[in-house]
Amino acid sequence: MAPESAFEELLALLKRAHVLGTIGDLLGWDEQVNLPAGAAEQRAAQHAALAEVQHAAISEARMGELLVVLEGTEGPPGSAVGMDSGQAAIVKQARREYDRATKLPVAFVRAKAAQGSRGYHAWARAKAENDFAGYAPVLEKNLEFARREAAYLGQGENAYDYMLDKHDPGLTAAAVDRLFGELKRDLVPLMRAILASPVAARARGVGERLRGFPVEGQRHFLREVTERIGFDYARGRIDVSLHPFCSGTGSDVRMTTRYNPDQPLDALFGSIHETGHGLYEQGLPAAHVGTALSIHAGMAVHESQSRLWENQIARSRSFWRYFEPRWRAFFPVQMEGLSSDDLYLAVNAVEPTLVRVDADEVTYNLHIVLRFEMEKKLFSGELAVADLPVAWRQASRELLGLEPVNDREGVLQDVHWCDGSFGYFPSYCLGNMIAAQLWSRWRVLRPDLEADFSQGDFSWPLGWLRENIHAQGRRLSALELVRRATGEELSPRHLVAYLQERYGSIYLT
Ligand code: ZN
Repeated sequence: MAPESAFEELLALLKRAHVLGTIGDLLGWDEQVNLPAGAAEQRAAQHAALAEVQHAAISEARMGELLVVLEGTEGPPGSAVGMDSGQAAIVKQARREYDRATKLPVAFVRAKAAQGSRGYHAWARAKAENDFAGYAPVLEKNLEFARREAAYLGQGENAYDYMLDKHDPGLTAAAVDRLFGELKRDLVPLMRAILASPVAARARGVGERLRGFPVEGQRHFLREVTERIGFDYARGRIDVSLHPFCSGTGSDVRMTTRYNPDQPLDALFGSIHETGHGLYEQGLPAAHVGTALSIHAGMAVHESQSRLWENQIARSRSFWRYFEPRWRAFFPVQMEGLSSDDLYLAVNAVEPTLVRVDADEVTYNLHIVLRFEMEKKLFSGELAVADLPVAWRQASRELLGLEPVNDREGVLQDVHWCDGSFGYFPSYCLGNMIAAQLWSRWRVLRPDLEADFSQGDFSWPLGWLRENIHAQGRRLSALELVRRATGEELSPRHLVAYLQERYGSIYLT
């Protein structure tokens, strides 16, 4: 069989699998936005039936045959013979998915899915009752499943690397270890200095005065902002859900937010965050939909997109120079007596918290360092599940200066481990590092960038991201993509420098 026709056939199979995936996205979105409470069972059955069809599509024997024909036919760079680098990336990604779908025994997949669902309920109960001991057997089992899964994929010796690579292709524990070690060294003293500043208390005070912001006004304002920064509402929408998220891709991107009249900045910044994810999905090349050239480069890069818009851009003075008059026009009564400086301070408030999802941009990364250190030790065997609560409290005290008095605000706070999603947490912090490194690069390429923001013009950053990140799909690993886009290896120094500059100018002058 000629490689050309094998490639065409492979594309057709991949596109079909992709379409099935988009149907799953839609079911999931609807479940969180619209589903009547009584329909949960019916939706679970729909998910299960679709998952079976999806699995069959990606593990079809024909897919395996085509991959064998195509592998090794990559031509030398620049040559007209054999596959080009884009086609090679498509084949490599298809192999990755095919192996994951075919190397795991069906009985294992079924047992793992059931364990994940049991795990969620066990976690929810344990958190409500502050009962880590009751939850520990679930974690033990999840670790065992993770190790077995890695072994089936030939990664038994490097199970944690395998887990990291699942979310961020190409990432290893050694790489994360080095990056987080450097970050921790520089971030801890900076955080302590900021928290000791008298300005920190003032920021809290201003935050407490932001009360009674009508939801309707919030909704209109955030729509204006997200549209202005480039979200295309002809190819997406925003709705309300309990936990904000962004799903879908290409011409149908679904974002959600949630409103609280007494925390008006939450819905706004949450929406800008999801818009960053949405812009990435809207910017993936439509011509290659369903293939590696049209999927994101991993969760760290995805998170970098949301963080850039949410933090570097939307928490800047220049951003608010443009949007503050609009904000005041929507909320004249609520903003009475609050100055521009007050608003800027509320937008950039820093306060240590035990709970990761409530953390500000300065302290957030240390929450992730803590989880990475726990995961690494769990996988190496250095830490036993039973010893997690004590290890967590100690690490929390060392890193954040706060010690949880119960496990609900400690080791039980996050959902991720209950279904075995180990290796996911690092993406959040790596995303922050990537965002800061892109930001630093921009300021070299376009020193007047913030003057554009003051005018309400965000076209330059979006255009640059479209070309250098979005258009690349998954051609490259996250680390390689960052290297090409910024001209240097990923380093935490840009994140530290950014935090130092922005927060230092507010808290340490
Ligand atoms: Zn995100």
